[in-house]
Amino acid sequence: MPELPEVETTVRDLKPHLVGRTIVRATIRWPRTIAAPRARQFCRDICGYAITDITRRAKYLRFHLQKDGSARSLFVHLRMTGGFRIDPCGTPRDKHMHVLFQLDDGRELRFRDTRKFGRMWLVQDEALVIGKLGPEPLEIGEKEFIALFDGKRRQLKPLLLDQTFLAGLGNIYVDESLWYARLHPLRAADSLTRGERVRLYHAIQRVLTRAIAVGGTSIDVMYRRVNGVSGGFQDSLRAFDREKRPCRRCGTPIVKTTVGQRGTHFCPSCQKPQ
Ligand SMILES: [Zn+2]
Repeated sequence: MPELPEVETTVRDLKPHLVGRTIVRATIRWPRTIAAPRARQFCRDICGYAITDITRRAKYLRFHLQKDGSARSLFVHLRMTGGFRIDPCGTPRDKHMHVLFQLDDGRELRFRDTRKFGRMWLVQDEALVIGKLGPEPLEIGEKEFIALFDGKRRQLKPLLLDQTFLAGLGNIYVDESLWYARLHPLRAADSLTRGERVRLYHAIQRVLTRAIAVGGTSIDVMYRRVNGVSGGFQDSLRAFDREKRPCRRCGTPIVKTTVGQRGTHFCPSCQKPQ
């Protein structure tokens, strides 16, 4: 499932192909992918807009659009299996390509989503989509990060997954960050010492930066880069997807449990409950 590094990779893959292009036409084959406005209106509204930039906020892609002095944003959340391809117009499309944007250079941007949970919003007011998100983990400073935990009684794992607390982490990178920081996923957030918070801060920076550098994590069919290439971070995982395999620090088998309905991997010897 795409998280911050996979979305960042998608943005970087798309940018050189799409910035400066104009959307000539949109075709929607699965209307529920369009969260706002209604699908028919979305198709009408987006025509003629030029893509001036593509950025990321948390796990959202943001296409910055301009037409005759009017600005809009197309936000895309990939959810479980969403991804993009760029192909020449007229080449065969498969049945999982649910939204198609015909471009002014004869190519087509294709949103492919086998599980159909991905969503798109075409809006003028960004707050409607990203208004409630917490800070970006790679932009927040160490001091600010440390203060986030004051008065938070929640357990680390669900807290770090909460997009209003910190935006962009998901199951893979929370498990990896907690392993590097040597923190148990069920620790109460406000029980962390200053030193432990600093450790967690640097663990998150390290894990996300390295994952972005190799194009994200492709464990199963859930995530592929633009046009089908795999990411490279699956070879560097330390906790996630390593149940019963030896901890790379101490050799103890990694344990998998469930925390808040999410599979959670940790080393019972390096990551003590207290
Ligand atoms: Zn260990």
